[in-house]
Amino acid sequence: MLTVKEMKDLQGKYVYVRVDFNVPQTNGVIRDTNRIKAALPTIQELLSKGARVILMSHLGKIKWKEPDPEKIEAMKKANDMAPVAKALQELLPETKVHFCAATRGEELKNAVAALKDGEVLLGQNTRYEKGEEKNDPALAAEWASLADAFVMDAFGSAHRAHASTVGVPSILKEAGKPVALGYLMIKEVENLSRCVEVKDEDRPYIAVLGGLKVSDKIKVIETLLTKCDYIIIGGAMSYTFRKAKGEEIGMSFLDADSLEYAKNCLEKANGKIILPIDTVATTSFDPTVEREIKIVDAAEGIPANMEGCDIGPKSRELFASYIAKAKMVFWNGPMGVFEQADFKNGTVAVCEAIKDLEGKAFSVIGGGDSASAAKALGYKQNFSHVSTGGGASLEMIENDGHLPGVDVLK
Ligand code: AMP
Repeated sequence: MLTVKEMKDLQGKYVYVRVDFNVPQTNGVIRDTNRIKAALPTIQELLSKGARVILMSHLGKIKWKEPDPEKIEAMKKANDMAPVAKALQELLPETKVHFCAATRGEELKNAVAALKDGEVLLGQNTRYEKGEEKNDPALAAEWASLADAFVMDAFGSAHRAHASTVGVPSILKEAGKPVALGYLMIKEVENLSRCVEVKDEDRPYIAVLGGLKVSDKIKVIETLLTKCDYIIIGGAMSYTFRKAKGEEIGMSFLDADSLEYAKNCLEKANGKIILPIDTVATTSFDPTVEREIKIVDAAEGIPANMEGCDIGPKSRELFASYIAKAKMVFWNGPMGVFEQADFKNGTVAVCEAIKDLEGKAFSVIGGGDSASAAKALGYKQNFSHVSTGGGASLEMIENDGHLPGVDVLK
């Protein structure tokens, strides 16, 4: 695959760059500019080559199924890209950053035409277009018509075959124009490929899974069973497996639709799946009410009026003892409701165990809430790689290294 570093003859050329500027923001106030900063090396590389850089990204969600047009307008307003352009200009003080409030049509065409060499144009939120998520061919063709080349630098969106991630590069590639990986993508693909094509020296390879979005994540387990030596499962996801094993889980989070799948995985696992052996259970997740919190052994079962909110002390030790043997760890999903001090110990124990591996093993956080947890708990710097894409990193593993937004560049 071509990389942005290898791209040549870009003086005066229009380069369409799909970035991930899906920053956390409230009413136009950006809470964290990390995603913008992460795209700077690619942008600067292109600017140094004299290109005219067209940046496109989605921001938040627009629920097009909503029948009330006023509500759609409100969603658009809440996800306006204009404040991001302002933040980008501050991060690139030497460069002229333009913003185009239109996603297509004459206004966008004129804004692109007005760009000079070494200048940047940030387009409006790609999701303002209904056709973006459907990879609408007319929309992709219109965007592609603006560019002489394409660079993909939005790893967090590379698992989605949308107009801006797959439609545009496939049209440009077909037309013989260069399509390339940006610096952020190169780093992500290199690091995550190591978790997909596992070398002997990276064994034992251990995956640690947790978090809440069970149905999103559960399918990756089947693939991980073929790649990992052990899969440790904690967090809300673990109760579906514990129920499948016949344990009492009280009111704990259960993904009933995935029970059969979980049973199937346990049968196939041959002892590779490691589940919690005790639980921190509570009568309520609400910290403002009077609640009972207690530690229960798995054999005892979680009482009918309680729900699991973290792994217990024995599980912390058990999980740490496995992690201590690892040469490679892939982690996605907290072990409990780490946002509350009472329920963060399981996630801290996993972070501590991985921290102890520093210099001895390769460790990857698969984005999303685990990255936030590691950051909030102060362990982010102890990992070899922290991915910017939760969904994308899981899908890359699940699909044996394939992602639509990467495959299209091959
Ligand atoms: P995810 O986005 O799937 O990684 O889920 C992260 C969320 O899962 C965090 O906000 C945690 O508070 C939550 N979580 C983790 N363990 C549990 C649990 N046992 N019960 C409910 N929520 C949990």
